[in-house]
Amino acid sequence: MLTLRWGSATDVGRVRTLNEDSVLAVPGLFVVADGMGGHAAGEVASRLAVAEFARLAERAPGGVQLSAEDLTETVRRANEHILTAGAERGDRYGMGTTLTGVGVVGVEQGEQLAVFNVGDSRVYRFAGGRLEQLTVDHSAVQELVDAGRLSAQAARTHPRRNVVTRSLGSDPGPAPDLWLVQPAAGDRYLVCSDGLTGELEDPAIAELLAANADPQAAADQLIGQALAAGGNDNVTAVVLDVLEVRAAEPSAEQTAAMPAAQTAAMPAEQQAATAVLPSVEAGLSRTELTH
Ligand code: MG
Repeated sequence: MLTLRWGSATDVGRVRTLNEDSVLAVPGLFVVADGMGGHAAGEVASRLAVAEFARLAERAPGGVQLSAEDLTETVRRANEHILTAGAERGDRYGMGTTLTGVGVVGVEQGEQLAVFNVGDSRVYRFAGGRLEQLTVDHSAVQELVDAGRLSAQAARTHPRRNVVTRSLGSDPGPAPDLWLVQPAAGDRYLVCSDGLTGELEDPAIAELLAANADPQAAADQLIGQALAAGGNDNVTAVVLDVLEVRAAEPSAEQTAAMPAAQTAAMPAEQQAATAVLPSVEAGLSRTELTH
């Protein structure tokens, strides 16, 4: 059993007139979507995506565990809804959204956190005073960084830094990246849109996460500092704290079947290991959208 505590905040920023980010923070599901497309269509796209996850949360009320497949299936449905809504209204054609988040999923050993991502919103883990980006951006500049042609620092100001290479609202549907993460008490997760990471570099984010024990205060501070740094984009943050992790009671059969070595406590490094599930590369959308 996981005990979590969280806070979230979003703001239109100091330049834009519409907030096209959408956020969901409910027991077991924490999602941020950053919409794109003219005529307010980005707002519609990100809201449709988050609404699909809200429906998933309603289908799995407290105690009912989600699976990683539930999350990828919900990404697929959200993509379909955005495509349908875009086809119905000519001025919304081509709208899209990023989508990233953390979901509590049930596994044989108890509960894990599934981190999923399409686009360039991000999930970070803050543990032991260290901030680590868990998601990998689907962006033009990330591809240049991966190819060794651009430094991560230069990517921050590159003219194509807002071009995403994978998004919801594209056909064929985008495969989300998905990682299963072992939760540990004391770990903090940050789910955010690029309006935060575009304004604040990692050390500033880490400092704010360290300075604010309350997750709502941390989320509010992150938004406040992003606005103070310029607020050039819509900005959204969810701060999620893992308060307690209790191992599931193994059934008598499981205990009997398990060799002694497996029942021993796993070393910390192994517990922290992050399993990367392969995404379906063939299904990648190469549509480039700017937001
Ligand atoms: Mg944005």
